[in-house]
Amino acid sequence: MILILLGAPGAGKGTQAERIKAHFDMQHLSTGDLLRAAVKEGSELGKLAKDYMDGGKLVPDDVILGIINDYMKANEGAGILFDGFPRTVAQAEGLDGFLKDAEVKVVSLEIEDEVVINRLSSRRSCRACGRVYNPALGIKPAGDACECGGEIYQRDDDRSETIANRLNIFHTQTEPIIEFYGARKVLYKVNGNGAPDEIFKRVKETLV
Ligand code: AMP
Repeated sequence: MILILLGAPGAGKGTQAERIKAHFDMQHLSTGDLLRAAVKEGSELGKLAKDYMDGGKLVPDDVILGIINDYMKANEGAGILFDGFPRTVAQAEGLDGFLKDAEVKVVSLEIEDEVVINRLSSRRSCRACGRVYNPALGIKPAGDACECGGEIYQRDDDRSETIANRLNIFHTQTEPIIEFYGARKVLYKVNGNGAPDEIFKRVKETLV
């Protein structure tokens, strides 16, 4: 099965992805994590992606589809959980071309813009392992550093100027995907408000 987690930035896709992959034993690809790792490494992909990411813009569809094609070939036959992909209708159509006859389910985490703005502006991440903390929600490390010892920082794209941009892109470019999958009756809308475990319970109910 291919499971797609949709939702605005800050809707909790990464947090739910951790739980889903452990519970359902799936491969997990977060395109955002993969791109951040590429930027950190300074690879060609990273150099290309950096300016888009820092400005809260989307990396071009052909670049993303190249990554997905490679990933699907390397994980043929496995259950895959996509988090942060697809982000445009063109990406969703591109994914169709790679799917063969795999079953697709789409979970859309629904949340209001105000909640996104509050969550993202207080979100902090670990530079080493990518773990996400949010002191405003009581999710904080024991000391100043991450549990892995890494430095805790604010992602450039979590600054308030960029959050508005990312939300705008979500509404104009990503939201149309909800209709795309809704028409196929593979879309499950889940209330993204509340504690992570509470939301996961709702997600599980849609997947059984
Ligand atoms: P995320 O961690 O999912 O919020 O992604 C962080 C940034 O990576 C986004 O704001 C985009 O610049 C880029 N990105 C991640 N996934 C995609 C995608 N599927 N298509 C285009 N850009 C992406």
